[in-house]
Amino acid sequence: MTILLLGSGGREHAFAWKMTQSALCEKLFVAPGNAGTAAIAQNVNISPTDFEALKTFVLQEKVDMVVVGPEDPLVKGVYDYFKNDESLQHIPVIGPSKLGATLEGSKEFAKEFMMRHNVPTAAYDSFTAETVENGCAFLETLQPPYVLKADGLAAGKGVLIIQDLEEAKTELRNMLVNQKFGEASAKVVIEEFLDGIELSCFVLTDGKSYKILPMAKDYKRIGEGDTGLNTGGMGAVSPVPFADAEFMEKIETRIVKPTIDGFVKDGIDYKGFVFIGLIKVNNEPLVIEYNVRMGDPETEVVIPRLESDLVALFQAVAKQELDQFELKIDPRSATTVMVVSGGYPEDYEKGKVISGLETISESIVFHAGTTLKDNQVVTNGGRVIAVTSFGNDFKAAVQQSYANISKFEFEKMYFRRDIGNDL
Ligand code: ATP
Repeated sequence: MTILLLGSGGREHAFAWKMTQSALCEKLFVAPGNAGTAAIAQNVNISPTDFEALKTFVLQEKVDMVVVGPEDPLVKGVYDYFKNDESLQHIPVIGPSKLGATLEGSKEFAKEFMMRHNVPTAAYDSFTAETVENGCAFLETLQPPYVLKADGLAAGKGVLIIQDLEEAKTELRNMLVNQKFGEASAKVVIEEFLDGIELSCFVLTDGKSYKILPMAKDYKRIGEGDTGLNTGGMGAVSPVPFADAEFMEKIETRIVKPTIDGFVKDGIDYKGFVFIGLIKVNNEPLVIEYNVRMGDPETEVVIPRLESDLVALFQAVAKQELDQFELKIDPRSATTVMVVSGGYPEDYEKGKVISGLETISESIVFHAGTTLKDNQVVTNGGRVIAVTSFGNDFKAAVQQSYANISKFEFEKMYFRRDIGNDL
């Protein structure tokens, strides 16, 4: 079959790497892709949110399936666009409907969903510019630190965690009245602070049944010891040692099942990935957030651990036959280390030549922010290359990633040297 994958990050390179191993995948297009996907598939220069251009392309190339990597096209309704167009509705889209994607697009919607379906999460309330003073009064009832969340998508920057009550009130006013995050902070969710350790649970659902994929933990901050600014993610490990069988049972019965049943009860059309951001507090799992797509860089450890055919898995999702699919997982540990441009997540330069990548053989190299220029691979983003390795334990896996990172270089490259050290 001919498949179109939307996106351009390390996540999409990992999907493309896995899908092109399937005998079912005759042709893979990636829109827009990166230098890594260009080597194994055909990149097409279309934005994932330009639905009309996507329509023209899929009809022209007789595409049989669309797989959506990032959240943007999902929140903007790419699933519904295909479903509601007579000429496109025979083409399955792997990803939720626009309503389903609202779980990521609106934090208030996600919290209301969790309340409705008894999914454990932090206590909260939400406020608008009209109710800003009620918001300040609500803050007074909470213990510090205070958690303020812009309701809408804010590129991972819309969550503020503040120690001081007066500062929290000021920021709340900034968000609601001064539109600190634009439309995204027209509503703000104020949440009880949860003190614990975070991990991510990935679920694939066909809207009726589900499969839980390997658990993963990512490292969000730029600096070692998890210090400094938040990033898209500097590395990830899978499995998660502290998610033992007993804890997984709690996650499945209290969180995964009620979430999938909630889709059915609420009439939410959902055929895709659910990324459940969890926090473990006193050995109990609570939900921090839902995302409606795979995580990046978690995909770079979760997908390599999948032994099953990913295209067959997507077909089972499209046909709602996931309950008959047998998922096979590699028991080994996987780690990925993200190599970034110096300066990221603040200002950084692009267009730096990356040399030495071809000498790497024992690790998997997933490209993120890369592109081809004059037949050379050059940097094209903050997060540049993810190096994934397997091992019988995390130490062996991560050491292999570091050994292979030493084989390539680009000007001002940076990576964290402590991925997995806390486990
Ligand atoms: P991202 O896009 O980075 O995944 P986001 O902007 O969608 O994040 P959240 O995941 O809800 O927002 O929050 C970002 C981070 O803030 C979380 O990963 C967590 O570390 C912290 N956080 C969020 N809510 C809470 C809470 N109630 N208690 C403690 N920490 C929290």
